[in-house]
Amino acid sequence: MTAVTIFPQLEIPQTIAAGPGPGNTDPRVLQRFASAGVADHMQADVLRGMIECKLMLREIMGTENIHTFGVAGTGWSGLDVMFSAVMPGDKVVVFSNGTFSGIDGLTVRMKAATAEELAANPLDPKPASVTIIDVPHGQSVTAETVEAALAQHKPKWAAMAHWETGSGRINDLRGFSDACERHGVMGLIDAVSSLGVEDFRIDDYPGVAGWASCPQKGICCLPLTYAPVSFTDRYIQTLQASGTRTFVHHPILEARHWGIIDGKDAEKGTYHRTHSAYAVAAFHESLRILLQETVAQRAKDYAFHEAALRKAVTAMGCNVTSNMTSLVVLNLPDNLAGREAELVQACRASGFGIWPTLSEPVQVRIGILNLLNQAAITDIVTRFGAALNEMGAGIDMGAVTDQLDRQFDQAVAAE
Ligand SMILES: *Cc1c(COP(=O)(O)O)cnc(C)c1O
Repeated sequence: MTAVTIFPQLEIPQTIAAGPGPGNTDPRVLQRFASAGVADHMQADVLRGMIECKLMLREIMGTENIHTFGVAGTGWSGLDVMFSAVMPGDKVVVFSNGTFSGIDGLTVRMKAATAEELAANPLDPKPASVTIIDVPHGQSVTAETVEAALAQHKPKWAAMAHWETGSGRINDLRGFSDACERHGVMGLIDAVSSLGVEDFRIDDYPGVAGWASCPQKGICCLPLTYAPVSFTDRYIQTLQASGTRTFVHHPILEARHWGIIDGKDAEKGTYHRTHSAYAVAAFHESLRILLQETVAQRAKDYAFHEAALRKAVTAMGCNVTSNMTSLVVLNLPDNLAGREAELVQACRASGFGIWPTLSEPVQVRIGILNLLNQAAITDIVTRFGAALNEMGAGIDMGAVTDQLDRQFDQAVAAE
């Protein structure tokens, strides 16, 4: 007999999640998570909480889509539900400008591949019906690029990331939606990084038929909760006609537990799969927080704090190439080029969780999800500057933090 190894209790330290995501979960969310009672997934308050979440989500997403709900898991879970309407042989155009839209493209290729195409290259199929439009890292997908591709290929579906977190670039959602409308294409948007950070209403983009986001970025609800999704009636009708080969990630079936049955709001949900009372309570609180702060105010706060961080790292000699407001993606000063991995590792080892890019070229990413205050930004700037100086950058950090203080003072004075 071999001895059973029982490991010591797992301790995970408090770190600063200063990356592209997950963001820092609000203490109010954790408190709701930890104080929910043990209740099953058909208990009345759990079901009521799910209905209330659904209604709050419609408000946050700016939509009257009946099929608006949460998918248990992370961003890829919501995206898998959204892409489940893509069937083998479907014609799809995917715009890819970084790590995440690249994986969206892979997901679409797996779904659209015929059985033969999938078997020919199971982990990286290349179906004839899917066109991937590659836009270089660091650039945005433009209206012109979308228009040209949809005019040429006339697909059934088109997919794009709203905000490509890999390179920190905002893509042209207006141009995408308009081109989809002009060509009768159903748009699918990966809104994992933009929901809860940018102020936009999905119903203002009628060319988009499906949306998918995540719990742990703009919604700040990591304790594994729900990825928001929303689908138009046209998307649902298309899915009703084709069907799809999944039970758990079926957009119509998954919606039932959220009280969306036969295309209408029901009084309460019916069983689809087990839901956690803890997750429902936490998600519910995160949506309440966002509505209390308002999406518009949060978007302003992100824009202000990102600008302050951008100015500070620029003053340190870094070159910022992103335009999202939840993170900066930057090149190190010339004399430190090539040492990105070393820098990121040193920061992470001290509990300062910044990230490199996950695909070429190597850059550094610093995020500010739910870190929207002077103390947090100053801490990030100070730690980052200290790490650069540790590597010999020779930055005058006094001047950098003085400038940062002035920006916050001016904002207070302007209020
Ligand atoms: C983070 C992210 C994903 C993946 O989300 P997970 O929560 O890791 O599953 C997909 N798309 C974009 C644009 C993202 O930023």
